[in-house]
Amino acid sequence: MQYLSTRGHAERKRFCDILLEGLAPDGGLYMPEHYPQIGDAELNALRKTYREEGYAALAFRILSLYIDDIPAADLQRLCAKTYTAEVFGTKEIVPLRHLEDGLWIEALSNGPTLAFKDMAMQLLGNLFEYELARRGEELNILGATSGDTGSAAEYAMRGKRGVRVFMTSPHGRMSPFQQAQMFSLQDANIHNLAIDGVFDDCQDIVKAVSNDHAFKAQYKIGTVNSINWARLLAQVVYYFAGYLQATQSNEQKVSFTVPSGNFGNICAGHVARQMGLPIERLVVATNENDVLDEFFRTGVYQVRGSEHTYETSSPSMDISKASNFERFVFDLVGRDGARTKALFADAVGKAGRFDLSQDAAFKDASAKYGFASAKSTHADRLATIKDTYARFGQIIDTHTADGVKVAREQRGNPSVPMIVLETALPIKFAETIEEALGRAPERPAKFEGIEQLPKRVQRLPADVQQVKAYIAAHCN
Ligand SMILES: *Cc1c(COP(=O)(O)O)cnc(C)c1O
Repeated sequence: MQYLSTRGHAERKRFCDILLEGLAPDGGLYMPEHYPQIGDAELNALRKTYREEGYAALAFRILSLYIDDIPAADLQRLCAKTYTAEVFGTKEIVPLRHLEDGLWIEALSNGPTLAFKDMAMQLLGNLFEYELARRGEELNILGATSGDTGSAAEYAMRGKRGVRVFMTSPHGRMSPFQQAQMFSLQDANIHNLAIDGVFDDCQDIVKAVSNDHAFKAQYKIGTVNSINWARLLAQVVYYFAGYLQATQSNEQKVSFTVPSGNFGNICAGHVARQMGLPIERLVVATNENDVLDEFFRTGVYQVRGSEHTYETSSPSMDISKASNFERFVFDLVGRDGARTKALFADAVGKAGRFDLSQDAAFKDASAKYGFASAKSTHADRLATIKDTYARFGQIIDTHTADGVKVAREQRGNPSVPMIVLETALPIKFAETIEEALGRAPERPAKFEGIEQLPKRVQRLPADVQQVKAYIAAHCN
């Protein structure tokens, strides 16, 4: 399998090369040259694999379709090492539970940091360690997080040979639990950088450093942000696992509702659907930061400035532009790299927006690609958390609540199961749960008292030079 850039660069790359890279040389995102097709026989085989051999075996079979530069036995071993019941809590790894008529919740948040990002990041940690050892190289991971990415990356990379992590986060904007999870890590290869700014300032710093090719090469800078193809690929697996748990035969379809921010999670659903997984609809759920909902309703993609990026009670969705969205738009415009470049490098890059409302392709977003969207507000989250607890005795987190609220509105065909992806556990956002229910969610024993642990964090202004200087000083 070869990978190409969404912005039309002529070069083609293999999986292990893009594994250790961020953006393509032209600023685009890497995409597979084609989507391997899963027909009826293959889907039956995958059904059998998941049932009889488990999630790791399912992951191996799907990843093998996209990775041909790691020997099969090694890839199989890496999957088996990653997706264990010890790390993820159950044999199914992503168990499906029934909520109400036609509505299911797929639990993606039982990994080490209690958010769905562990699903991809735990695999990435093992892939990085494997590939770096094979090459005799080192890698310095520079990332930006508003909470869940950073802790998932740090828990995946801590103690891994050949890897250092430099993780920027917006100072004071993460929940106390999230800060404690990240800043309490004492591993020498983990560096927390608290930036005076919002998440997008952090993301801009990461982009600026990555665009300085000399610095990037000298300090072997890599990324684990959601633009990394390997992360997206790892996420494709749980769409299959959700589908296989919800259905008995391949004639059945399901829909997914995905609490969305950077469009990484739902983009994996798009990939699964393009491979032929029988998904009827992919529903984007946003919070008050609704750039994606606006696009799917109107055809206008309008990024927001810092002053219009709201701090909400589902903070991992507080984004002003969706970094993975370009991947979907690339498919939407018929994989036209020049067109994608004009939309993202020129229109978004200069004017902060593009408008496809008059373009025939825009209709395809729902008609051909199955997308729908809606948004959810703080009041909706509180009401949904309250109602779900009162009726079913289940406590859901704030992001999942955005998903459930939107899923109920967008359910559509009642004979098609709607699966809401549970992207975090409620303990990560205890304040809002208390506001909704007047009680705190249960805290898993291993997280007792983490807020009191000593913290390792460096505060810095939103300044690219100072971040570079910090990295240079801590690379040996
Ligand atoms: C990261 C995250 C999201 C958003 O996922 P994207 O891939 O950025 O769309 C939603 N919920 C939680 C809890 C997250 O950590």
